[in-house]
Amino acid sequence: MPASMSKPYSLQKLPTEIRLMIYRELWTQLDSGIGGNPNTGSGSGSQDVLIDRANHQLSIITAIQNLTLSCRAIRSELVETFFTKVLPSTQFHLPNTYAPDHIRSLRQHHRPQVPRPPELSPINLINFKIFQVLRSSSLFTQHIQHICIYWDRCYCSQDRQYQIRPTWDVEPDGLLWLANLEQLKTFRVVFTDMNVSRNLRFCYACRMALLLVPRTVEVASCWTNIPDGTAEDFALAEDRETSWVHWFWSKRALAWGHQRALEEMWENGEMKYGVEEDEVPPKRVSEHQKAIEENGVLAKRKDRLGQKIDRHIGGMGVPRRMFLKSV
Ligand SMILES: [Zn+2]
Repeated sequence: MPASMSKPYSLQKLPTEIRLMIYRELWTQLDSGIGGNPNTGSGSGSQDVLIDRANHQLSIITAIQNLTLSCRAIRSELVETFFTKVLPSTQFHLPNTYAPDHIRSLRQHHRPQVPRPPELSPINLINFKIFQVLRSSSLFTQHIQHICIYWDRCYCSQDRQYQIRPTWDVEPDGLLWLANLEQLKTFRVVFTDMNVSRNLRFCYACRMALLLVPRTVEVASCWTNIPDGTAEDFALAEDRETSWVHWFWSKRALAWGHQRALEEMWENGEMKYGVEEDEVPPKRVSEHQKAIEENGVLAKRKDRLGQKIDRHIGGMGVPRRMFLKSV
């Protein structure tokens, strides 16, 4: 038996109370982290501290994920103690919404007229590994309730600007994964570069991915990273944030209506490959939109969540502006 397989079996032999203590120790370490909380600024000083912290979190998340795969009894103990108890007050930060390979290729082959993606920092790479563990786990995917996405700009190959080679589609993996989070309640997007213009920020596919985050979302918010801002910068950012949140809520039912109409057309065999999604007849979209608005299929908008967030997983340190926010 390989070494990695032998551990869960020996764990299974322990009395339940001891096992529960071991589990608890795992997420207590998530709480304390190394170097503090990325969202309050404590310990957010050096990159080394952040890297240690991210590596530490990666190892704990991986350990929990491995335990869920070990046997049914341990899996259900973890569901009871961790996934349904700890995750409701845990926020996950996804700083890397594109796969590192894509970013590397885009940097290498970028054309002069197209902005070059920022270099991938070591912390960003570790955070992408955390994301990969979360994505590979049905339990994390099923139980995560709070997500924060750090967004620079769209690098999708949708408009062919960023296409690396004809067969390789560049898609924002992190953003698309959100659609699978059955219990997502809060969703925040942090603009890491306030100078990106609106049309470069999101392509059509990105916008749809944002609007189609699960119907369970109750709180959507938008923050901007302003390292050295003037009062005007802050005012401008605040305006954009407000209008983003307004955009999100005002277009939700339309996007879901569009999605429903599209699914219906596929089911009825009216849709073929190669037909553009925007060729869905508007009348059908508005019928579905109306039904969605009337039936209350989408969760009601709230300005803030009653639930307190106790711990943060992932992240790249603190956008300065976050200090000014009370949420
Ligand atoms: Zn895009």
